[in-house]
Amino acid sequence: MSDSKRLKIAVQKKGRLSDDSIALLKAIGIKLQIRDRLLIAHSTNQPIDLLLVRDDDIPGLVMDGVVDMGFIGENELEEKMLERQSSKRPADFKTLRRLDYGGCRLSIAIPNEMKYDDVTSLNGKKVATTYPYLLERYFKEKNIDASAVMLTGSVEVAPRAGVADAICDLVSTGATLEANGLREEEVIFESKAVLIQKSQPLSDDKQALVNRLLPRIDGVMQAKE
Ligand code: ATP
Ligand code: ZN
Repeated sequence: MSDSKRLKIAVQKKGRLSDDSIALLKAIGIKLQIRDRLLIAHSTNQPIDLLLVRDDDIPGLVMDGVVDMGFIGENELEEKMLERQSSKRPADFKTLRRLDYGGCRLSIAIPNEMKYDDVTSLNGKKVATTYPYLLERYFKEKNIDASAVMLTGSVEVAPRAGVADAICDLVSTGATLEANGLREEEVIFESKAVLIQKSQPLSDDKQALVNRLLPRIDGVMQAKE
């Protein structure tokens, strides 16, 4: 077991949030030596350990109090919260800061040739997504009788493969949609990266450290504006 006196922060190991999250930690003065294959990275100048994991695991690690903090996209966080609430598992956390990277939107897109007037055109349709809880919440809010088909990858090829009529996926530029003959019709969730903390209280020392780090994060974000 690692030292419980050190602040444990979960960060995506590899992907769209890793570089910016690690750059932010470095920018606020945390020295890190990250070695490729390792799950954990120790800071050499602060009592901080990074846990490098898949982004999907980060909300649960924070909600279960296994790590003290985590950097995560709001899309993934909200999805995991809804999933856990539906099975009455712990889903609490505190949002410390909304960050200035990881921006994207979760949108419903349809094949170019599909007839579409408004959201009611989705009635009776199958929509492929990695975010079934967010999508079903949206259907419920809009009173749409459609079904979510869960796919963890290759969502954008589902309509062509005949697996679904439409998709609900993350979009930033829209280039992937276009390349797959899809058209964005509804934005259902706007997301950025956030820094979250577990809801259980931290030790006084750890909380004092967090309280020193947050103004530095604000400073780095202001400097970039
Ligand atoms: P992992 O292997 O960690 O599970 P992943 O494939 O699920 O990685 P990434 O593609 O690295 O995840 O995306 C991580 C997060 O980056 C997304 O959940 C989202 O919050 C954010 N993001 C920003 N822009 C985009 C985009 N254009 N497409 C997908 N995700 C984006
Ligand atoms: Zn993931």
